[in-house]
Amino acid sequence: MNTTFAMPTVHQDRGGPQQPLLQVRDLKKYFPVRAAGLSAKPQFVHAVDGVSFSVAKGQTLGIVGESGCGKSTTARLVAKLMAPDSGSLVFDGEGVDEFRGLALKDFRRDLQMVFQDSFASLNPRLTVLQTIAFGPQVHGMGAGAAEQLARELLARVGMEPAQFGGRYPHALSGGQRQRVNIARALAFDPRLLILDEAVAALDKSVQAQVLNLLQELKAERQLTYLFISHDLHVVHYVSDQVMVMYLGQIVEIGPVQRIYGHAVHPYTRALLSAVPSMDPARRTLASPISGDPPNPINPPAGCRFHDRCPKAQAVCKAQAPRLLPVARDGAHQVACHLNEPQSGHSDAVRAGSAAAGLQGVPA
Ligand code: SF4
Repeated sequence: MNTTFAMPTVHQDRGGPQQPLLQVRDLKKYFPVRAAGLSAKPQFVHAVDGVSFSVAKGQTLGIVGESGCGKSTTARLVAKLMAPDSGSLVFDGEGVDEFRGLALKDFRRDLQMVFQDSFASLNPRLTVLQTIAFGPQVHGMGAGAAEQLARELLARVGMEPAQFGGRYPHALSGGQRQRVNIARALAFDPRLLILDEAVAALDKSVQAQVLNLLQELKAERQLTYLFISHDLHVVHYVSDQVMVMYLGQIVEIGPVQRIYGHAVHPYTRALLSAVPSMDPARRTLASPISGDPPNPINPPAGCRFHDRCPKAQAVCKAQAPRLLPVARDGAHQVACHLNEPQSGHSDAVRAGSAAAGLQGVPA
């Protein structure tokens, strides 16, 4: 029996802690849609439209926004599950686009994803241990070592190997299946885990257990997370940085305390005010945001949020705002004319002051 352990457990840390693990630059993905007639102009859904961000080693970047804002497409582009139309990815200082052959294989091992649908993510014909051991075996680990690793990982995610190792996915609860998916991802000894609505389908109590497990694993294994969720409470709990997307673009990004305590963009503020407060005195029945998101096939000119924004003025319809640092805080960036002193918006910040009239919102 071949028991060669072919997967190194110590990763090459190319640039030290200052080197971001992931840098995404101007990522774009447009999906073609069927035109009405033969002579009709081709149309495209602007799913991801010029997205740039970095994730530091050992940090969690939470990505939030309404359905269709581009957060899951961004994740799939980062994971190279689909090719971007343009833009670049840098992983620990090396351009991912240059990865070929073995380097691409290593990247795919360094980056793992856990999806919302825990059942569809698992092969119904493989037992739990076979599922976890499968990836390491494909990467050259012997069967005995892979099974031993699978047992250790299963125990680490809180499932007794003797009790659960021989079961098939249909004989597990949703929380147990998601633990198996996490163990399977860990079997590759990854550096970056993309969690795409990974706890969304779980009951609240199970959700809390899985979130705590993810936090422990992150500390133990120096993992970096991209955490995609529509649940702002969960994102608040797990994230170091938060990125807010609207119609394929970033509208606000910054440290979690800044976003939840001092959001500047009217869309972020509307999203946060829609979160039910634990304080009955702060609950409101009024809808914080009017209308539906515009058609992503023809995004509005200027600021894409202008037809739903209570602060919109003429400049917002004419000119797209740039993603710029909020005064005195370069880590917190906002794409809104309110944040640009010279934008022409009458409520725009005066130079050197924080966003006028925009204080923190209840989280
Ligand atoms: Fe609202 Fe204008 Fe800011 Fe867009 S740029 S969010 S429309 S104030």
